[in-house]
Amino acid sequence: MQDLIIIGGGPAGCSAAVYARRFYLDATLIFDRPGGLIATAHKIENWPGIKEMGGFEFGQTLLEHARALGAECVTATVERVEKLPDGNFRVTASGQTYTAKTVLIASGTLPRQLGIPGEQELQGKGVSYCAVCDANFFKGKTVAVIGGSDSCCNEAELLAEIADKVYLIYRRSQLRAEDANVRGVENHPKVEILYNTTLQEIRGTDRVEGALLSDGSELALDGVFVAIGREPLTGVFDGIDLDFSPKGEILIDENNGTKTSGVFAAGDVVPGIKQAIVAAASGVSAVFGVREYLKKLEQN
Ligand code: NAP
Repeated sequence: MQDLIIIGGGPAGCSAAVYARRFYLDATLIFDRPGGLIATAHKIENWPGIKEMGGFEFGQTLLEHARALGAECVTATVERVEKLPDGNFRVTASGQTYTAKTVLIASGTLPRQLGIPGEQELQGKGVSYCAVCDANFFKGKTVAVIGGSDSCCNEAELLAEIADKVYLIYRRSQLRAEDANVRGVENHPKVEILYNTTLQEIRGTDRVEGALLSDGSELALDGVFVAIGREPLTGVFDGIDLDFSPKGEILIDENNGTKTSGVFAAGDVVPGIKQAIVAAASGVSAVFGVREYLKKLEQN
């Protein structure tokens, strides 16, 4: 029986594990993506104190810190979370069960899909949701990145280091990313931005060969990177009672507690600014909530 099971190994989950251990709580951190979403970032340049670090290395560093303080780190996919009649929780992950007095959901998000013909059929055959993971397959090729916010700009810049030509395709007339990110793509000689344009269909038989654009023209492409935002990853939590925002984020109170007492949530899966450092702070704040909850349990 652990004090706390943390679901998610990103900035929220790892920061929570660090604070949990500093409060001498027994904590198990369960994650299927070591380091979470940030581990797929090309470069981290906006974490105070770290001028620049690769995303993968950054994610590993977060996990290593949690591990070094004694958090049990388990790589597994969470399948179910249940509240037991005695008020404790059972988490099933990759067929193993874990029990704890509290659970912190820091499961983050999953990539949103375009939902157009060809997208599903050509996934892994030129359609990708992660430039860091797949950019190397497009050396000297022509690719498109779909979206108009920060992820899209970052992915376009990364791809431009490897591909010959990058089209950034955005449905509106002005990008809505951070100024530094907008400038990065606008001034890049290999990036061409197609404004007021959407993809109608991704075409190809065994591999991506092109895309049909909203003006009726066809663009020859070797790859399509979809970077149109993310959805909260909450599908496996239907065994517990939670409230959700219209965007599908888990609603929390001022202590990061959810509708089910003993279940807390933090990071990108709850409403708020989606930035790694905000997620980390949210994970820390949740552990203060967990500590208060455990103190009350002991008193009763
Ligand atoms: P996001 O901010 O939600 O942006 C999604 C983009 O995709 C928007 O431009 C949106 O268009 C477009 N889009 C959504 N659905 C679409 C569809 N069906 N077809 C075409 N386009 C579609 O997602 P994000 O870029 O992943 O960023 C998420 C959060 O993380 C943001 O708060 C962002 O600032 C932050 N972030 C920050 C950095 C950084 O460098 N600081 C890096 C990555 C992410 P509209 O603009 O028309 O809505």
